[in-house]
Amino acid sequence: MSGRTVIFTWTQTVADLIAEGAEVWAHCSPCRSRWRCDLVKIAKVKGPLYSLWNRTSPCRTPGCAGRVWFKAQCPGSKAWVHFSDADPAVVGRLHEAWRASRDGEMLGEEVRLNPAVEARLQA
Ligand SMILES: [Zn+2]
Repeated sequence: MSGRTVIFTWTQTVADLIAEGAEVWAHCSPCRSRWRCDLVKIAKVKGPLYSLWNRTSPCRTPGCAGRVWFKAQCPGSKAWVHFSDADPAVVGRLHEAWRASRDGEMLGEEVRLNPAVEARLQA
């Protein structure tokens, strides 16, 4: 779909980002604060199949009512991928797969993670 952000495979889920060794930052437009995200922590809290695509999160700066957006960079690349404006239909499938994994409704399919990612989540 033209004009839409391309969802690269390595950006699909938090587990994919960890496997890639990606660096992810949160940005708040209203207060201009930014911080590097702890992907392992996000995977532990939200689940490894959580997707940052088209998502925002409340800013954690005291007194700021803004919402942060996310961007990622993979090692060796200078380009940043912004997790916004992707095709809602594609993002909807990612978010649906995450919800299903949270609800234990994977229809008999175990969530299989890259062993290196699994080890980081167990640590
Ligand atoms: Zn803020």
